[in-house]
Amino acid sequence: MNILVTNDDGIHAAGIRALAEAMKEIGTVTVVAPDRERSAVGHSLTLHSPLRVFELRKGWYAIDGTPTDCVNMGIHSLLPVAPDLVVSGINHGANLGDDVTYSGTVAAAMEANLMGIPAIAFSLATFQPSNNFTDAAQVAVQVARQVIAHSLPDDTFLNVNIPDFPLDRIKPPLITRQGKRSFIGTIVDKTDPRGRKYFWVGSEEPQHHDEQGTDFHAINRRHVSITPLHLDLTNHKTLPILAEWTF
Ligand code: MN
Repeated sequence: MNILVTNDDGIHAAGIRALAEAMKEIGTVTVVAPDRERSAVGHSLTLHSPLRVFELRKGWYAIDGTPTDCVNMGIHSLLPVAPDLVVSGINHGANLGDDVTYSGTVAAAMEANLMGIPAIAFSLATFQPSNNFTDAAQVAVQVARQVIAHSLPDDTFLNVNIPDFPLDRIKPPLITRQGKRSFIGTIVDKTDPRGRKYFWVGSEEPQHHDEQGTDFHAINRRHVSITPLHLDLTNHKTLPILAEWTF
């Protein structure tokens, strides 16, 4: 089993170290990750500048690109054979509800899914400093073993959020749907030392609607949340409604 490990927090983050170490239980691990933090870059691809690869140590490649670049480079250039599984994370911070569309962690799994490779994004649900990445990595191994045993349905990858608690206080995984974020004012404007205005986006932790069956509801109750995602953003319910428009 060949496993490609990536993230969006950068190759030096605690989460990717814990994940890569734990995945050794399952197979041969190659790490291909951004050389610095690239959180919230979404599914962006570097098209207008070259990419450089730095082999930090055997099987650990840092790239000056996005998580999507890393998955591309890993699969098409750095790994001798296509990986059997791509895992992304463990992100420092939840990726719940609508936030998945911003997430570089989730986009990396999405990119692997586009290439037909089973993929899982993992996030630790806290924005505070945490000592629980190693425990969360054990959860990641359990989920990865299920994916290997059952394989994933076509056109499906997993978004897994793990509560920020020691292993013995984490409740079993629930299969969830993507919840809804509640939007609050998140732009802060201040003045820099030279008297010019600057703006800072996303200053508060995102809040979500606490609806039963959602990723947020599960995490809020200390369950691991596993949401199957796919790339088709079509709002299928509305097709008959829009079909009535006359042009
Ligand atoms: Mn991140």
